[in-house]
Amino acid sequence: MTAAELLAVSTADLAAAAGALRDASTGTRITFSPKVFIPLTRLCRDRCGYCTFAQPPARLEAPFLTADEVLAIARAGAAAGCHEALFTLGEAPEDRYPVARAWLDTAGYGSTVDYLQAMAGLVLAETGLLPHANAGALSAADLARLRAVSASQGMMVETLNAGLDCHRGAPDKTPERRLATLEAAGELGIPFTTGILVGIGESRADRLEALEAIAASHRRHGHVQEVIVQNFLPKPGTAMQGAAACPPEELVWTAAAARLLLPTDVHLQVPPNLSDDLAPLLAAGIDDWGGVSPVTPDHVNPERPWPALEALRAATEASGYELAPRLTIYPELALAPERWLDPAVRPAVLAASDAHALARDLDWWHAGGEHPPPHLLERTAQAHARGNERAKWSAVPVVGGRVADVLAGVVAGQEVGEDEIVTLFGARGREVSAVAEVADDLRRRIAGDTVTWVANRNINYTNVCTFKCRFCAFSKGPLSLNLRGDPYLLGVEEIQRRVVEAVELGATEVCLQGGIHPSFDGDYYIDVCRAVKDAAPGIHVHGFTALEVTEGARRLDEPLVDYLRRLKDVGLATLPGTAAEILDDEVRRVLCPDKITTDEWLAAHRAAHSIGLRSNITIMFGAIEQPVSWARHLLRTRALQQETGGFTEFVPLPFVHMATPMFLQGKARRGPTFREALLMHAVARITYRELVPNVQVSWVKMGAVGSRQALMAGANDLGGTLIDENISRAAGASHGQRMAEDDFRRIVEPLGRPLRQRTTLYGRVERAGAA
Ligand code: SF4
Repeated sequence: MTAAELLAVSTADLAAAAGALRDASTGTRITFSPKVFIPLTRLCRDRCGYCTFAQPPARLEAPFLTADEVLAIARAGAAAGCHEALFTLGEAPEDRYPVARAWLDTAGYGSTVDYLQAMAGLVLAETGLLPHANAGALSAADLARLRAVSASQGMMVETLNAGLDCHRGAPDKTPERRLATLEAAGELGIPFTTGILVGIGESRADRLEALEAIAASHRRHGHVQEVIVQNFLPKPGTAMQGAAACPPEELVWTAAAARLLLPTDVHLQVPPNLSDDLAPLLAAGIDDWGGVSPVTPDHVNPERPWPALEALRAATEASGYELAPRLTIYPELALAPERWLDPAVRPAVLAASDAHALARDLDWWHAGGEHPPPHLLERTAQAHARGNERAKWSAVPVVGGRVADVLAGVVAGQEVGEDEIVTLFGARGREVSAVAEVADDLRRRIAGDTVTWVANRNINYTNVCTFKCRFCAFSKGPLSLNLRGDPYLLGVEEIQRRVVEAVELGATEVCLQGGIHPSFDGDYYIDVCRAVKDAAPGIHVHGFTALEVTEGARRLDEPLVDYLRRLKDVGLATLPGTAAEILDDEVRRVLCPDKITTDEWLAAHRAAHSIGLRSNITIMFGAIEQPVSWARHLLRTRALQQETGGFTEFVPLPFVHMATPMFLQGKARRGPTFREALLMHAVARITYRELVPNVQVSWVKMGAVGSRQALMAGANDLGGTLIDENISRAAGASHGQRMAEDDFRRIVEPLGRPLRQRTTLYGRVERAGAA
């Protein structure tokens, strides 16, 4: 719609059209940025008629916050789970106040921007919070300097009406200076937040003119990540204290007009603390609430404290939307870091990101760590507590939008494809419970209520490896940072000793996998397998990844299927699905460039299945990839299962990041969030349905409390007791080295579901030690 057309449309009609447009582009997701507010200086050379932020020196204890004060605020924010450090400050106060000039001179800074650059750099380095610099109208040179220490910058255009009384004493508020800053930011590739003020004396046409100018700049450069539509409220002690507040309908009209005028990749924010009724704003097409701070007040509008996050969540959900934390840089730009981020800022952005390049959820959980996971499945927990009766579909939390549509199709028996899977991985808030409920019901119908486990021992015969997997903290090879342990290669006698010990401890299975030692030829695996069976003829040998068998056959120049047959003849019973990582070659090229390809992994399992060797599917997720790659992984393995039926189970392996080379080099995320890890179990159950009857939760990576929630989200198996779990612990996992039956019982009992030991192939274990 053009500006002229917008002016002729009623508020209700505009809001309806804008709301529909927002629903089509961002769905049910409404974002906010968990932030701390750092008012670096409240001195300003401008005098705007509505402003209480700027103060004269006499009213302030000091012209600038000190570095210690800045860091104290940032550290409190980091401790509370914030991701953004919002630096707000007046414009060039040193040009107006000698006290500001003197303070900067004494501290050794040439300008306020110099000091801001130093403080933003300090916060980034010391806390990992992502600075957002809100320093007003700046030169290209100043913008460029701040780009090196911030993930985004911002400046409100406010208005392009040069004749407003409120800006008479504000040389930085001229339309030329505002537009020049906006344009320079675009030219420099700076993720930029801007916006307009509503109700400071401008007309509707003025607002549309400003929005059109912003849209035009964005079309040239693609840098305007969001536009804030902010309503004027009169404040005591300001020149405009007697002016009328912006009427709520004007705000709604303007927000809706902005949504319709701006490109859909420009997000739209209205600050929630300046309105009493948030529902009309949501209906008018906004998709963001801006920064929400748990620790600092809103210094620009101190008389209206930020609504508590839970109140914001309640208001958002009451309108049928789900709240999600975001970073100060929006996902569209964060996913193209080469264009939008200085290399020095990228590691912190990655570390704070989830798989959608939104912010990690406000908990401290990461795979293999000790922080407890959030409780995401309250309703599902209640259903379990009600005596485990089958949850009625009516018990599925009421959600709308695409997730609800996909779930309705799943309930009706439809097979999900890539788009549907990606949609389910985007579930937020109540949608997560809804996905889990559907997965849980499928689990109940397909695998029953019994939770199973297997008594097994991992034997990682060597940690020496010739491959260069960038996520691997286990191997001692070309990329090794030598962080943990020494290189080792177990002799055959030691392997046999461990097998005998495992059997004495009640193990029914040994899981054999390790690095690809340069000295191995394919016969090594055959010799190991034979030695294991010699030591314990009844033990189930679950061993050798697709990489190991492919490499073994290649080193012997033998057809893979013949080689697998020889392994089977000496006792190999099943193959683990590891080395799959992410079965999407785009991701593998970065994650594990010299490892087998997706097709080679699938071919190895196809060959194994063809001679009666069953195997499982794993996915190692949460390092660098996006949900579309998870979807491809699930679909490729589902297709092979439709062909062979050889997979016994699916095992999600959340990336344990702590000691991995990629993370330590700033090139990976902190693994999946707990929500993502939970959804992986649920979405896999929904994708595979009856085809792969078992979904296993890795207690090593999910922890006991996390595992219990996964059992409420589609999982039915707890995997192995895993005496010796070297690989996750090498990556930094802290969960125990071994589980006993009582440990499993403590996980399962609160769910009211039976626990049963199983064999590798999900048979009954009649006595300890049986295969
Ligand atoms: S993941 Fe396996 S193949 Fe890759 S470096 Fe580690 S041990 Fe080697």
